Amino acid sequence: MMTTTARRYRIRVDPNKCVGSTLCVHFAAGVFALDDSGQSVVADADGDTATNVLEAAEQCPQCAIVLEDAESGKKVFP
Ligand code: SF4
Repeated sequence: MMTTTARRYRIRVDPNKCVGSTLCVHFAAGVFALDDSGQSVVADADGDTATNVLEAAEQCPQCAIVLEDAESGKKVFP
C-alpha cells in the first residue's frame, strides 16, 4: 500500500488563532507539537500522512491550520 506523506501540503499554524487545544497533536502527532508557550507549531512537515494532517486541520476548533498544495501553492484548507 502506498503511503501519502504530508509533503503534499505546505502547513502553517496561525499563532493568532491557535488556543493550544492539542487536538492537532492528537490527530497528527508526527507533525504538530506544542511549543513552550502552549501553541501548536509544525515540528515536522513530513511526520505524518496527508490524511491525518487534513483531519487535524478539519478538527481544529479555531481553524488555525492552513494547508496549501505543496506544488501549486493553492489553498486546500480552510
Ligand atoms: S487544534 Fe488548532 S487550536 Fe488546537 S492546538 Fe492545534 S492549531 Fe491550536
